[in-house]
Amino acid sequence: MPEFQEYEGRWAPIPTQFHSLYHEGPFTRCVDCERDLLTGDCTYFIERVFRGSEPVCEMAMCMDCRGAISQELSAESSQRLQAFVEERFDMEARFEQTGEWPENDIDRWLEQCVITKQPRTQHRNYQIVGICRGDQMSLDMLPILISQTATEEMQKLLSKKTRDRLGQMIDDFFGMPPEFADNPDSYSPLLW
Ligand SMILES: [Zn+2]
Repeated sequence: MPEFQEYEGRWAPIPTQFHSLYHEGPFTRCVDCERDLLTGDCTYFIERVFRGSEPVCEMAMCMDCRGAISQELSAESSQRLQAFVEERFDMEARFEQTGEWPENDIDRWLEQCVITKQPRTQHRNYQIVGICRGDQMSLDMLPILISQTATEEMQKLLSKKTRDRLGQMIDDFFGMPPEFADNPDSYSPLLW
């Protein structure tokens, strides 16, 4: 991941696709440390999980909390994940491509899974991930859409320790609907 803290690329007001269903507007606090996200003094991730067009889970987490969780993952898991993503996701091409898309057409960024390259319409379950600061979202490589199919592939690369830690985190931060809870590999926060 590039250093988003220092990244000065394109930004736009957070689109409604990344608003909170629960709060009926922008996310206001980090799910972990509860810091105020809208003051603009930190970069944070927004992740929302969908079943069809229906949002089923969502969270916003600041970069500090995210970094702390990444630190806990085993080195082997992180390396396998990095290698997989490098092989399947051409980030340079993505930067070039998204640079040509208009800021008011956020759906372009979310048209297909960046790993499987299949259109969103072919994936019943998927998550979208964006990077924000204050009330603005970065429009560059992210936002992205990751299908459940791709998530399950990535979960297979992780050690048991890492999967257990992620499972704990999901328990802590999401009230997962039963259909996801039955299949713990169907969702993972983006950690690469
Ligand atoms: Zn936090």
